[in-house]
Amino acid sequence: MSYTSEIYERVVAQNPGEPEFHQAVKEVLDSLKVVIDANEEEYRKDSILERLVEPERIISFKVPWVDDQGKVQVNKGYRVQFNSAIGPYKGGLRFHPSVNQSILKFLGFEQIFKNSLTGLPIGGGKGGSNFDPKGKSDREVMAFCQSFMTELHKYIGADEDVPAGDIGVGGREIGYMYGQYKRLTGLYEGVLTGKGLTWGGSLVRTQATGYGLVYILNEMVTAAGDSLEGKTVIVTGSGNVAIYAVEKVTQLGAKVVAMCDSNGYIHDPNGIKLDVVKDIKEVRRGRIKEYADEVEGATFTEGKGIWNIPCDIYLPCATQNELDLDGVKTLAANGCKVIAEGANMPTTREATDYILENGILFMPGKAANAGGVATSALEMTQNSMRLSWSAEEVDEKLHGIMKDIYAKVSSAAARYGMEGNFVAGANIAGFEKVVAAMKAQGVV
Ligand code: NDP
Repeated sequence: MSYTSEIYERVVAQNPGEPEFHQAVKEVLDSLKVVIDANEEEYRKDSILERLVEPERIISFKVPWVDDQGKVQVNKGYRVQFNSAIGPYKGGLRFHPSVNQSILKFLGFEQIFKNSLTGLPIGGGKGGSNFDPKGKSDREVMAFCQSFMTELHKYIGADEDVPAGDIGVGGREIGYMYGQYKRLTGLYEGVLTGKGLTWGGSLVRTQATGYGLVYILNEMVTAAGDSLEGKTVIVTGSGNVAIYAVEKVTQLGAKVVAMCDSNGYIHDPNGIKLDVVKDIKEVRRGRIKEYADEVEGATFTEGKGIWNIPCDIYLPCATQNELDLDGVKTLAANGCKVIAEGANMPTTREATDYILENGILFMPGKAANAGGVATSALEMTQNSMRLSWSAEEVDEKLHGIMKDIYAKVSSAAARYGMEGNFVAGANIAGFEKVVAAMKAQGVV
């Protein structure tokens, strides 16, 4: 049996009931097979893969808090510190009812390669809670965040582990957690990223994941001899990543015609009016269907099926496994030529295989959405220097990082004879750097 198959079986046997983690490991191992086969003896001796798939540490804790009715609520809290070979653990915190150890391990594992691809010195981690901020008062969110940080602060630090936001964790939640960290430790340090601009945050961090996605998309399309000008685009989700992907792709001349949330999708053939979406989502914390009530010519459809709308480019920016085989086949039949993942693992394995076999240009999340964590690392740099860069300076660095990721991913794929397979390219380029660091640091 090949080394990669052996390790995959070991992961399934030793991590029962963790399908998302198995899925992420399988995708990475399958695309690394050529590299691993070429170095099998050496990697086996050093147990490189056994070490890579095992998190360095998982912290799991209780988060008790009091709701507005005076009742005590209890949630689960986690931090997965996956791999620190190339820098302090870095990765978001997700607050969503679906959060469990499997999802955080899949996200933490992916984060290792993504962070490596950015070229910045950051290791891989992820954390969060099954707490649902939706429908909670500000006071309840604060009570939860303070309790969460009361436990988490023991395990993080500016040179140790630097969490950021993710689904359900935006500026408000980062603020409450940062305040509690400072109160408990007495330290005003860059322990979290995604902070507000008046207290250590970086300009462009809010926009970074969505902008970065479009910068790499632009590289892909340009390399294929085309441009974004006049293209019809679908962006799924209507959260942080989706909103700023829409903003940048529209600036570059494309027209976004559909977005969604977990209730359903809107279709606006005239082009999405982003100021309306921002008002609904960022100001009122409302539902996407309100868009159709406010904008003439727009419609709302309940449930899934956004992929039925014809488009040239599809940017999934909501959540894992949102795009399945049927969805991808429909997109392809309607002429979609490019898919770039703003979310983490939004495309199922079967759908990804179909995409790669049918010549659709495809950039996986670990490369395409790396602009978020890269700009978080730029926020860490500014915090360490006690300086703030201008928006232009951060945006220029972000743009440069995304171009560099595209170059690394495409050249790694070509080096192993898989030209245009950016899934393989991203995994190989991310892996090579981490493995070199692990080997240099010995058995730790
Ligand atoms: P947000 O919480 O801001 O937004 C998530 C959006 O996706 C919401 O509109 C949400 O709708 C929608 N959504 C969630 N589940 C579903 C579903 N099953 N079907 C349809 N829509 C759904 O999160 P982010 O924008 O920050 O994150 C989105 C993705 O991008 C995640 O995979 C995240 O891990 C990834 N990512 C985020 C980064 C960042 O910097 N924020 C960095 C890199 C990756 P609803 O409100 O109804 O739940």
